[in-house]
Amino acid sequence: MPVNNSAYQSLLSELANRVILVAVSKTKSVSEIKELYDLGQRDFGENYVQELIEKAGQLPRDIHWHFIGHLQTNKVRKIIPAVYLIQSVDSLKLLKEINKQSERSGCVTNVLLQIHIGSEDTKFGFDEKELMELLPVVVEFKNVNIRGLMGMASFTDDHELIRNEFRSLNNLYRRLPVYPNLQAKILSMGMSADYRIAIEEGSNMVRIGSMLFGERASI
Ligand SMILES: *Cc1c(COP(=O)(O)O)cnc(C)c1O
Repeated sequence: MPVNNSAYQSLLSELANRVILVAVSKTKSVSEIKELYDLGQRDFGENYVQELIEKAGQLPRDIHWHFIGHLQTNKVRKIIPAVYLIQSVDSLKLLKEINKQSERSGCVTNVLLQIHIGSEDTKFGFDEKELMELLPVVVEFKNVNIRGLMGMASFTDDHELIRNEFRSLNNLYRRLPVYPNLQAKILSMGMSADYRIAIEEGSNMVRIGSMLFGERASI
């Protein structure tokens, strides 16, 4: 399916350089990604480690690959050399492993902490209490750089619910305690169906797939 260029252009003007666009290319082909790349897009998001690595190997090296899926600790070592930002850090165990493997590779890995805001039980992420307990520990990790927070709203048509969830995440983001080595400047929230609400509620990074690439085939 060709990339929807008019949706891309109107999205870019809506975001107006104030909000970073991550084009979510999961399940999409290398040629579809290249099409959007040729229009100027550089940030792409993937959910599966193997898929990200294979695509990264076949596409230009100046792409920023964002990992947005659930990451298993045994895949961390593989993804570190390819990834620009891991947005979906949802456990201390995972963060420790990212730190350890980054140290081995002699790099610092940028991450977002995923916060559980939706009402579904299945969504991964920390709650506020867990986050506040975690932060003093993890800001000491030398090989991870915590750049901000990520969250996904409930999958629902109830816009007020979605708005409240995004608002609560932004409140948490703005109340993050100050540490000398914490530079949390990214609030990643909003997908094709809810990005406008997310931006109204303070998002500065949206993750958009189907609006640009068309609907994904269900698996
Ligand atoms: C798939 C996915 C998106 C993009 O969803 P669309 O509805 O296609 O825009 C955003 N964030 C995460 C975490 C995803 O898994």
